[in-house]
Amino acid sequence: MGELSIEEYNKIIKQEEACLFPKSYVCPICDEHFKSLTVRSSKLYSQGMDEDLRPKFRWVDPIKYEVVVCPICGYGALSRYFNEMIPVWRKMLQNGMPSFNNERVFLGGNRLSYDESLKLYEFACRCNELAAFKGSRKAYTYLKRGWVVRGKLYAESDFLKPEEKEGLKIEETRCLELAYDGFMKAISEEDFPIAGMDEDTLMYLCSALANRLEKYADAMTLLSRLMASRTVNPRVKDKAFDLKEIVRERLKEQEANGQ
Ligand SMILES: [Zn+2]
Repeated sequence: MGELSIEEYNKIIKQEEACLFPKSYVCPICDEHFKSLTVRSSKLYSQGMDEDLRPKFRWVDPIKYEVVVCPICGYGALSRYFNEMIPVWRKMLQNGMPSFNNERVFLGGNRLSYDESLKLYEFACRCNELAAFKGSRKAYTYLKRGWVVRGKLYAESDFLKPEEKEGLKIEETRCLELAYDGFMKAISEEDFPIAGMDEDTLMYLCSALANRLEKYADAMTLLSRLMASRTVNPRVKDKAFDLKEIVRERLKEQEANGQ
């Protein structure tokens, strides 16, 4: 990123703010009406994606804004799940949320810093532990949280101390590990689409996560299964082919090091 002048920094902030608008929500737990910053999809300019499907955009990291948290009761979830509520889950959340000790989020700013966004993810993950949601909902939240941690590592790289970077890498790995374990379980227990993904996409995502988690043999098994499928989407197949080359190299290195 290099050294940024104050003017350049302010320009970046203004560009991010211009991509956002306050969207209205009604909390399914306490009925509070509130607004939460949301990205205007028309303002997104794609800059490709990481090999594990984390999308990248100019000016704004939309994953920072994917969690919605009620400022009154503290109920939080990824926006796609926010209104998915049944009475038994509501009861579980209402019983468990007092353990948050009245900790609340502030939603008054014009944008979210990475730390503010990670705080919202913390609320969503805590709520996920309270109710008997599907495993894929928990896994998807951890995946997105891991991606926000990675986003912080990239965006704030120049300002972070080595030990802070190390801590963030550990946190990213922890989140991706929880996502991987949850999705692998969901593949055998849930019906597709899972978290909006078809079978090919989720199998590919899991193989990419396994690769990042240095579970190369598992990654190879998943990729072989995926590529043996006759109906696999050609775009997914191309990505799987590229990833297989990388995993093959890593496996060779591992064997050479006698691991
Ligand atoms: Zn609420």
